[in-house]
Amino acid sequence: MVNRNVLVLGELKSGSLRSVSFEAIAAAQEIAGNGQVTAILIGEEIQGYSDEMIAYGADRVLTVEHKNLRNATSDGYAQALFKVMEEEQPDGLVFAHTALGKDLAPRVASRMDAGLVSDVTGIAREEETIVFTRPLFSGKAIEKKVITEGLMMATIRPNNIPPLDRDPSRSGKVESIDIEIENLRTMVKEIIHSKSDGVDLSEAKIIVAGGRGVKSAEGFGPLQELAEVLGGTVGASRGACDAGFCDYSLQIGQTGKVVTPDLYIACGISGAIQHLAGMSNSKLIIAINKDPEANIFHIADYGIVGDLFEVVPALVEEVKQMKV
Ligand code: FAD
Repeated sequence: MVNRNVLVLGELKSGSLRSVSFEAIAAAQEIAGNGQVTAILIGEEIQGYSDEMIAYGADRVLTVEHKNLRNATSDGYAQALFKVMEEEQPDGLVFAHTALGKDLAPRVASRMDAGLVSDVTGIAREEETIVFTRPLFSGKAIEKKVITEGLMMATIRPNNIPPLDRDPSRSGKVESIDIEIENLRTMVKEIIHSKSDGVDLSEAKIIVAGGRGVKSAEGFGPLQELAEVLGGTVGASRGACDAGFCDYSLQIGQTGKVVTPDLYIACGISGAIQHLAGMSNSKLIIAINKDPEANIFHIADYGIVGDLFEVVPALVEEVKQMKV
């Protein structure tokens, strides 16, 4: 069995660890084999998150705290990471495929002259070799990649690699690294959340998405209600965003977010290729559309031909009944 030392960057959002960080630990364990997985936490006052990283499978946690690292910038985080890399000399480094991971990973890979596989959806160990799977051409093809030498780096797409079971009885060492963060060219002074800033779509397990068929901002009301009773979140097609029914932060598709929830309910969405590019890898797709010829039905596991303003409230009632 291989024996690699692998680092994994833990990511915080709105005061809690992102669930994709736990998925990244599982990926790091696969790469490490019999080696050690060390989680890195970067920020200010972050000690409190170490136990959770260990409970999800990190063998050890390194914290890098500095007042200039309170809000993530690639400049500041890269300085912290380079310092950690210098001290640890790891064989592997895993990031989440988030805005931060997508920004940092190439920067680190270039500096370290390392191989980087981005947007990984699967990892397999074949004897000494790690085989990474990643989608190509908006999910129309997949490729398998190996890194043949040197530092092995990957970014992990949320909701694809299952996290290890949480075990709060696991123990691990927590150490801190002192660092001076200087010459920052960018600094985030304040983060102002948009109104729609709730569950991150790319990590959501259940998404109820609305399209132009929703007809107005108010038309999203029943979808919001369905998302609430199911414990999910609301997304949208570009058609709905362009029409001004909702914020662009909800857009799913080629030029929006790529999502892979357990359940995707498409309401009044025709199923344009650019929309499918962002959601066709969802584990279960239900489409509601009044046009039986709508393209969305070609990729749906279940289709309901009907008026969403009748079907969605009926589903809400049904789910409520199931909960009684
Ligand atoms: P429509 O195509 O207008 O479909 C509305 C659907 O609602 C219809 O099928 C209709 O039958 C149904 N409907 C109407 N009323 C009801 C009702 N009462 N009950 C049930 N069903 C009803 N699109 C994206 O979504 N995401 C992207 O990231 C994206 N990127 C793009 C990038 C480029 C470069 C380009 C050119 C386009 C992109 N688009 C994207 C746009 C895409 O091509 C489509 O125009 C868009 O997805 C259509 O949105 P829609 O399905 O909501 O609207």
